[in-house]
Amino acid sequence: MCIFCEIIDGNIPSKKVYEDDNFLAILDLSQTTYGHTLVMPKKHYDNFLAMPANEAGKLMEVVNIVANKIYKNLDCKGCNILMNTNEVAGQTVMHTHVHIIPRYNENDSIEIKFTENKFDLDEVLNKING
Ligand code: AMP
Ligand code: ZN
Repeated sequence: MCIFCEIIDGNIPSKKVYEDDNFLAILDLSQTTYGHTLVMPKKHYDNFLAMPANEAGKLMEVVNIVANKIYKNLDCKGCNILMNTNEVAGQTVMHTHVHIIPRYNENDSIEIKFTENKFDLDEVLNKING
């Protein structure tokens, strides 16, 4: 059983931010910023891509609720909401989860950088659309 399934089953303790029949949100142990939270489905899926679209949609509904709760009750100015999908993208726990990382200022201890590349956009588009 994966570590998040163990948490969901109550075998490993966690700090619960939100819970309903199908989803759980807990404080991330690392606390990259104050209030860093993980939202996950109670049903095990290795990652977002493995979820049926309707369940992925419900997950994002819960993310919206939890992010608003964090935004309202912590004095943050915004947040980064992200998912690492597969090891190549930095996923270390293979149970779908969404990171909500509250942001207080531009110098918070997190770095997300979008670099620019000169790919041919039409070629990219054709490949994606098949
Ligand atoms: P990722 O790298 O996207 O798979 O994120 C996994 C996250 O899970 C990391 O940010 C860890 O800090 C967090 N994590 C691992 N074990 C626990 C745990 N027992 N309770 C809370 N967070 C955890
Ligand atoms: Zn699991």
